[in-house]
Amino acid sequence: MIKQRPRVVERPEGYVGEGFFATNIEKVIGIARANSIWPLPFATSCCGIEFMATMGANYDLARFGAERLSFSPRQADLLMVMGTIAKKMAPVLRQVYEQMAEPKWVIAVGACASSGGIFDTYAVLQGIDKVIPVDVYVPGCPPRPEQIIDGVMKIQELVKNESLRRRQSEEYRHLLASYKID
Ligand code: SF4
Repeated sequence: MIKQRPRVVERPEGYVGEGFFATNIEKVIGIARANSIWPLPFATSCCGIEFMATMGANYDLARFGAERLSFSPRQADLLMVMGTIAKKMAPVLRQVYEQMAEPKWVIAVGACASSGGIFDTYAVLQGIDKVIPVDVYVPGCPPRPEQIIDGVMKIQELVKNESLRRRQSEEYRHLLASYKID
């Protein structure tokens, strides 16, 4: 049996002395959040299958502290949209986003979620950023699990470095207002 050592997160910048370590609370909260993300998979088609592979034993998203999937928006902080989103589905996606508590992040996984992909038709939403703000776009049709993991790692970087005040900032309020979200 192969014994794997647990992944130890690097400690943040701070002051180390004999028997003490001091740092900034923002950095500690950032590390905790980044390594305990609860994703909500909103999968409508083929890209969702790649996500299943990403959760499986070979790729194992659990290594990043993100194995606890949530199918309830109120208990999730990362919305992962995978697949073609029909215009009829757009209000549902937006409702799911609105039901998530702050702070929350969004990944558009694959060409369809990012831009409508090959479906340049009247019935398909040409990118989920038409209805909700997106933090990371993962290219590909479909993206491989490695790319999805790369997207999650990019989100981890954002989460780790986000200021605790960002969600109360004018800039963030403007972003939501541009989507007519209160
Ligand atoms: S991007 Fe490609 S693989 Fe992903 S849902 Fe669209 S058509 Fe399917």
